[in-house]
Amino acid sequence: MVKGKFLKVECPRCKKKYTIYNKPSMTVRCSKCNYIISRPSGGKARLRALVKKVLWR
Ligand SMILES: [Zn+2]
Repeated sequence: MVKGKFLKVECPRCKKKYTIYNKPSMTVRCSKCNYIISRPSGGKARLRALVKKVLWR
């Protein structure tokens, strides 16, 4: 079983908060300002946002 890790992040541009999975297969963009919050790189997400909290599942 794969343990998922969810991150509570904040968009550095518009301060909108998101909860995202740490291994997304797609680029995650802020729905408000279109800032790229996370993009996949080698199976791991490369975060470009401020991590507020790590939520384990
Ligand atoms: Zn934003």
